Amino acid sequence: MTECPECAAKDIVVEMKFDANTKHFICKKCGLFATREQVSDIRYRLNKREKTREDKHDEYRDWWTTSKKDKQG
Ligand SMILES: [Zn+2]
Repeated sequence: MTECPECAAKDIVVEMKFDANTKHFICKKCGLFATREQVSDIRYRLNKREKTREDKHDEYRDWWTTSKKDKQG
């Protein structure tokens, strides 16, 4: 199963649903919509951020917000 990295960051275990048409994983809880690669990337970024919590630079959030806007357009 593919666990949602966004929800996992909040200590919630959510299994992502795979959409075969778009080849994307979807989280029913937070609405995350990402390919397997993106899920891995998000997980990596969140793990990295966990270790550098003092770092104010919010690169991940910028990336995700931009990514979301693209999808809605
Ligand atoms: Zn989620």
